[in-house]
Parts: sequence; C-alpha cells; structure tokens
Amino acid sequence: MGVRVEHPQEQIDQIQYHSKERGFLPAASYSMVHQSKLAGKERGVFSFCMCPGGFIVPAATSPDEIVVNGMSPSRRDSKYANSGIVVAIEDQDLKDFDFLGPLAGMEFQASVEKRAWQSVGKGQVAPAQRLEDFIRGTHSPSLNASSYQPGLESVDMSTILPKIINERLKQGFRSFGRKMQGYLTNEAQIIGIESRTSSPVRIPRDKMTCEHQEVKRLFPCGEGAGYAGGIVSAAMDGERCMDHLAQLYPK
Ligand SMILES: Cc1cc2nc3c(=O)[nH]c(=O)nc-3n(C[C@H](O)[C@H](O)[C@H](O)COP(=O)(O)OP(=O)(O)OC[C@H]3O[C@@H](n4cnc5c(N)ncnc54)[C@H](O)[C@@H]3O)c2cc1C
Repeated sequence: MGVRVEHPQEQIDQIQYHSKERGFLPAASYSMVHQSKLAGKERGVFSFCMCPGGFIVPAATSPDEIVVNGMSPSRRDSKYANSGIVVAIEDQDLKDFDFLGPLAGMEFQASVEKRAWQSVGKGQVAPAQRLEDFIRGTHSPSLNASSYQPGLESVDMSTILPKIINERLKQGFRSFGRKMQGYLTNEAQIIGIESRTSSPVRIPRDKMTCEHQEVKRLFPCGEGAGYAGGIVSAAMDGERCMDHLAQLYPK
C-alpha cells in the first residue's frame, strides 16, 4: 500500500535520457526498489505500474473511499509520468486488525481508503502533497497541475497513512532520489491512496487441482481470489484453472 507519485514527463525524460527533447524515443519510464528498515523490520518499497505519458485515475468501488490507480494511453503522450510507490505489508503489520481473522487485510485497506476520503470529503477529490514537502513533513500551500481529473486538495499525507507506510515511503523516496538525480522535487506530488495493488485475502484452493478444498466445483482464480496481480498473471491463472476444471469434470 502507498501512494501514486506524479512528475512532469519532461522531468523523467531529462533524468533518463539527459535531455528534455526525446525526439523519436518513447516517454521514459523507471523501476525502483528499496529495502526499508523500521523498528528492526525490513520491508520492500517499490515502484508499481509505472505509467509513462499517463494518467492517474479514480479506482474506488464505494462512494466514501479514495483509491487511485494509473494508466497510459497507447501513445503514452500525456504531459505526466506517474507510478505507484508502495510498501509491502506482512501479516505481522496487521496486529490491530488480527481479531478480524482472514479479513484483517481487507479492513486495514478499507480503513486507510476511508481516512483518505474523510481528509477531503468531496466526492473523488483526492488528497495530495508535493513530494519534497512530504519528505520534510511540511504542508503544501499549493499543488501542481495534475492528470487526475476529479481534482486534488492539499493534505498532510502523514495524517492518512499509517506510520509503517509513511516512514517507509520517506525512506524509499530518499533512496530513489539518490539513484535518480532530480527525482526528489516539489515539481512532483504524491496522490493517495494506492491500495489495490494485490488482493488482501486469498481463498484457499488445492495446490495441484486449483479446486476449493471444501466446496467442490469451485475454482478460486485470478486477482480477487489472491492468485494473480495484473492482466497477464490473471489470464494465465484463469487458463490453468479452466484446464483443471475440464480434466476433473469432463462433462
Ligand atoms: C485503472 C487500472 C489500470 C490497470 N493497469 C494495468 C496494467 O497496465 N497492467 C496490468 O497488468 N494490470 C493492470 N491493472 C490490473 C488488472 O486490470 C487486473 O489485475 C486484472 O484485470 C485482474 O483480472 P481478473 O480476471 O482476476 O479480475 P477482473 O478483471 O476484475 O475480472 C473480474 C470480473 O468478475 C466480475 N464480477 C465481480 N463480481 C461478480 C459477481 N458477483 N457475479 C458475476 N461477475 C462478477 C467483474 O465484473 C469482472 O468482470 C489495472 C487496473 C486498473 C483498475
């Protein structure tokens, strides 16, 4: 879970190609990872679904939550480059939600999405903060133009993000800034919340046959069931389940 960061595409082109004029080259992309350390625990912080020349889009499934995602049109020709920057969450990070059993991850996710909505409370207007301001812990008096159509409002993101995400994101961004000179800038801003990178639950199934262990003829598959993350892995998992289903139940 984490945020989306949006830079002017020109800035990413400058960093990657050492020129703002990219000529025939495609809009530049990047892929970053950092191993964060907090209270003796290590967790990955990484870029996810980087969208060169893309848009940040609303992806909530209820009116009282804010979820953002990213996409690039085939020409990758918008003025902006965005990427999810997320922190890995392990079971041990969900202690406060343990009493909910297998749904602990879902409730953790929902609690942050709802807090993001409450921080602004205007439809799908999303909370945002300039990148350097976020690292320094200072309020952004104004925000940059953005590809996010419903609009943005300046919010101190540390009031929304749990500490385990907030602190690790800062470590990650500092590390990315050392690797990509010019990445850490107030010309960039973070927009929340990037919370649907993978399913917070997994429906159990037999490792060999993919069939649910108790409910016959049920084949939990794809992203929602916790077996894929992204278009290709979801499609491949679906094929695999169909093969097993056809073998086990030929008629
Ligand atoms: C804005 C956006 C951009 C993305 N960009 C990328 C990308 O660039 N690359 C990438 O790899 N992935 C991307 N993804 C993720 C990708 O879309 C998913 O990983 C993928 O679609 C998961 O496939 P799936 O078949 O498991 O689930 P889905 O595609 O979600 O399919 C589930 C289907 O089940 C239906 N359904 C739900 N409940 C019921 C019900 N009760 N009864 C009947 N039908 C039901 C839904 O309507 C849906 O059609 C993006 C996602 C979003 C939202």
